[in-house]
Amino acid sequence: MEKIIKSIYENYLHSVGIGKVADYIPPLANVPPDKYAISVCTIEGEKYNIGNYTEKFSIQSISKVLTLSMLAPMVGKEIWECVGKEPSGSPFNSLVQLEYEKGIPRNPFINAGALVITDKLLQLVPDFNEKLLEYVRSLAGSEDIHYNKEVSDSEYTTGERNKALAHLMKSFGNFKGKVSQVFRSYCNQCSIEMSTMQLAQTFLFLANKGINPLNGEQVVSYRDSKRINALMLTCGFYDESGDFAYRVGMPGKSGVGGGIVAVIPGKLSIAVWSPELNGHGNSCRGIATLADFTTELGISVF
Ligand code: GLU
Repeated sequence: MEKIIKSIYENYLHSVGIGKVADYIPPLANVPPDKYAISVCTIEGEKYNIGNYTEKFSIQSISKVLTLSMLAPMVGKEIWECVGKEPSGSPFNSLVQLEYEKGIPRNPFINAGALVITDKLLQLVPDFNEKLLEYVRSLAGSEDIHYNKEVSDSEYTTGERNKALAHLMKSFGNFKGKVSQVFRSYCNQCSIEMSTMQLAQTFLFLANKGINPLNGEQVVSYRDSKRINALMLTCGFYDESGDFAYRVGMPGKSGVGGGIVAVIPGKLSIAVWSPELNGHGNSCRGIATLADFTTELGISVF
């Protein structure tokens, strides 16, 4: 495995200038485009890291999987009356689809869906913002995970479309809390910073039947881990999820910070960071890396 990861890394090391770093807020626009890191954790405890794997980046929409996982054990199937489980086929922040579908977001990984999940968590979990960090730290096995205030503030002040999504859902009765409070919490989630090393470890429970391999804790039931993986496979890459499944063949989630995390149930988790994005908002080099990883190791879920 180590040799293959190294050869993929060396092959793409100079592939810069193929996409565009997210520029909707200054702290993301200023990230050097050539950053590149790969981290793998296996459920047997092996770890492989290469490149800028200790450097932290904004996990952005990858946080949507963590909030869904946190909520899953607290709610029953009624959650699926508030948010769907179908790929959206529309941009992640589409208002049009939400209007058509009467304020029920297509899935938990588009912005509207994640806002509904956050709304529910704020109702159920006292000190939710603090508790989310504790949750992620315990999965990562690291206390060194924080919100980035500059990123959160920029998201908050520029996030008119996200606020519009929340207000639209409120008008349909699918949103209980105060938009400003829920949106602030959503911005905090997006601003969480992690290294690929931390991210791969954090997602290992989804490769391990819902159990955190660091402490044996059942984070989500096996049934929920299976379902969250299915949602990542079908909805984890904006409206490029089909292409990602076709090329890579792993459940995963991307974020506009250039991170991608993916799992092979029963085997491993892998995180890649490379900030240049394609037109769908997914890391160009991240996808290429993962496509080679599954092909060369012969280990996709298919
Ligand atoms: N923070 C972004 C937004 O809400 C989400 C970014 C992403 O999709 O990774 O617009």
